Amino acid sequence: MAPDLATGGAGPAPDGAGRPDRLATEVLVVGAGPVGLMLAAELARGGVDVVVVEKRKAPSTESRASTLHARTMEILDARELLPDIGTPPHEPRGHFGGLPLDLTWPSTHPGQWKVPQTRTEAVLEERAISHGVDIRCGHELVAAGEVGEYVEAEALGPDKVLRLRARYLVACDGEDSTVRRLTGVDFPGHDAGRELLRADVEGIDIPDRRFQRLERGLAIAWRNDQGVTRVMVHEFGRAAGPRTTNAPFEEVATVWKRVTEEDISGGTPLWVNSFGDASRQLASYRHGRVLFAGDAAHRQMPIGGQALNLGLQDAFNLGWKLALTVRGQAPESLLDTYHAERHTVGRRVLANIEAQALLLLGGLEVEPLRALVAELTGLEEARAHLAGMISALDVRYPVPGPAHPLLGARLPHTVVRSGGRELASTAELLRARGGLLLDVDRTGVRVPAGWADRVTAVAGDPEPGSLPGEPGAVLVRPDGHVAWVGRDEDGLAEALDRWFGPARPPTP
Ligand SMILES: Cc1cc2nc3c(=O)[nH]c(=O)nc-3n(C[C@H](O)[C@H](O)[C@H](O)COP(=O)(O)OP(=O)(O)OC[C@H]3O[C@@H](n4cnc5c(N)ncnc54)[C@H](O)[C@@H]3O)c2cc1C
Repeated sequence: MAPDLATGGAGPAPDGAGRPDRLATEVLVVGAGPVGLMLAAELARGGVDVVVVEKRKAPSTESRASTLHARTMEILDARELLPDIGTPPHEPRGHFGGLPLDLTWPSTHPGQWKVPQTRTEAVLEERAISHGVDIRCGHELVAAGEVGEYVEAEALGPDKVLRLRARYLVACDGEDSTVRRLTGVDFPGHDAGRELLRADVEGIDIPDRRFQRLERGLAIAWRNDQGVTRVMVHEFGRAAGPRTTNAPFEEVATVWKRVTEEDISGGTPLWVNSFGDASRQLASYRHGRVLFAGDAAHRQMPIGGQALNLGLQDAFNLGWKLALTVRGQAPESLLDTYHAERHTVGRRVLANIEAQALLLLGGLEVEPLRALVAELTGLEEARAHLAGMISALDVRYPVPGPAHPLLGARLPHTVVRSGGRELASTAELLRARGGLLLDVDRTGVRVPAGWADRVTAVAGDPEPGSLPGEPGAVLVRPDGHVAWVGRDEDGLAEALDRWFGPARPPTP
């Protein structure tokens, strides 16, 4: 139950505005970008009371990320969100630093899926609202701090201050995070040294270019069905400008001309922006009752669509853990595994993005390195290694337990059968709330009664060869990662306790 602030004394009202409104909730999410919406939906699904404050008055119409990778598609499938996403264009090929890369990996959704970020956000928002999340648009967080067992915060609404009290606050407020600033949390890393200028332009007729490296720079262009051409350009050796506003279109046209010799200055810019190779990551994703996810926790060049996917997967990792903690079922220490798991993944993604930025924006001096990487990606093992990394299908958390190829990895897709009939796919089984104990080898392992409220048991036969290492039974966390593998109950209670909290005492 959410704490009740209604009887608390109101502080001084802002100039001209009435008494501030007060709201108490269990979790306050700051920012209704994709990460905040995904997290809010997961928390509410887990039975938690959630308020989201968002400074924008209406959904963003900005053309930002457009790629969902395989792991994100699997996550959306596990929450039955794919029908709402529709049937997006599919591209099995991606790139690594502009070098073509086949992203094929064992998955139900290998490769890249072209979904505008506005669509992803709309779908997640609808889901969050359907789970009862209270989204307050037009409310900008301006103050936040931990007070005793709560976080107290203030958001400036359209005509009033909203005072909030929550058990936890999660900052999903993007790369310029207000929460980071308010809490004084350091954001180590480096600023952008190089940048790509980008514009959506109407009324120009230029050839498409896919990561074309010319003598003076890198040029990318493609024209969509509506006749709008997206151009992206980097001039070798040109430093990133210190920007407080978007680059003017004239600058994009001038650089485009210098690099390609094409004149696009007569076109009509619909949207212009730039993005640099800045790279920063919080040292800790958790500061007491304040947690960080998405761009608020890590800043990276949005190469190959990894920025958005990384953030959505942060939210998917945190949601169930925070829900169990807030409901008092799991101890606070479960939240520390969010930092331990996602910081490590984030560091690895940021490193691959930095490597790609060098390959992509480096001048002619990186050509020998590009040639070597191109040669390596021709080797199946190297290709699969990079594809697993970019799609995030290879993420394996450091789960304690005897070594097994599935431990810590995501449960691969399979269809489970029982008595000759199809029971469900693993994606369908993961739609049940809580964890899953899948007995695939008739071991007879059962969920002890004290955890039956948090874990569902299913026995059945997977497709032959679909689960590596011939597991007997597997315990799967709500985010699809394997928490325990065994043939008898050895270690099962410890794993259940670690990931789902202590057993519920038997009712007298
Ligand atoms: C111009 C641009 C182009 C991009 N292109 C790509 C791309 O091609 N591929 C890719 O993978 N990624 C791309 N990205 C990155 C991708 O969009 C982000 O990784 C993704 O949006 C991160 O989601 P988020 O929810 O963490 O943050 P955001 O999407 O930034 O959402 C943060 C939300 O918090 C709100 N907010 C901020 N401060 C406050 C406050 N004080 N109070 C209340 N609300 C607040 C903001 O209004 C916003 O809605 C791009 C980003 C930008 C800016």
